[in-house]
Amino acid sequence: MSVQNNLATIQENIQKACEKSNRNPEDVQIIAVTKYVTVDRAQEAIEAGVSHLGENRAEGFQDKYTAIGDQVHWHFIGTLQSRKVKEIVHQVDFIHSLDRKSLAKEINKRAEKPISCFVQVNVSGESSKHGLEPDEVSDFIQSLKDYPKINIVGLMTMAPHTDEEEVIRNCFRSLRQLQLEIQQLSLDFAPCQYLSMGMSNDYQIAIEEGATHIRIGSSLVGEE
Ligand SMILES: *Cc1c(COP(=O)(O)O)cnc(C)c1O
Repeated sequence: MSVQNNLATIQENIQKACEKSNRNPEDVQIIAVTKYVTVDRAQEAIEAGVSHLGENRAEGFQDKYTAIGDQVHWHFIGTLQSRKVKEIVHQVDFIHSLDRKSLAKEINKRAEKPISCFVQVNVSGESSKHGLEPDEVSDFIQSLKDYPKINIVGLMTMAPHTDEEEVIRNCFRSLRQLQLEIQQLSLDFAPCQYLSMGMSNDYQIAIEEGATHIRIGSSLVGEE
């Protein structure tokens, strides 16, 4: 399928999920995750109207960024090693995987302008998943107050791999609850206005539960 057709389907599904949950589709940003595809396929997504791209590795990001540059907004969505920060921090607009103090320190040291960061939370508790435990998030965010280059714009999670819709929904709902707790702290460096949640298999549920940023790879740019 062309990216254009895939995008049209996804936009319809966003529309439906928003109607169901009384939300405005303009509040849901699609991030095209291009980690498995070529530069050409990423370009096809841009031509179809996508303006936010996501990559999960520094190398893949560099390849795409070299070809595409600043015509889109760039999201770094993968686990980020501290030593790789300097390779991406001047180009990316958002980092979705802030999960430790040492990483925040390195971003703060290397960045020239404030970086919009999502704190990654392991809501489901699966040991294979990265991110902070939910009950660590508030203290973690408060500990970032002396890092002027870190702006906490939201929380990010990945739902467990399961067909049980309720399990997925509860995961997203818990992240939303946590977001409300952070917002109540009224920290000027952590407005926490966004929720990065939902991928190809579960973005409709995520939108119903408040997602503002959905990260979609296979069903948007996948070549099948
Ligand atoms: C790969 C990836 C996605 C997209 O996954 P799909 O299932 O292909 O939509 C989203 N978020 C993260 C963090 C990823 O690594």
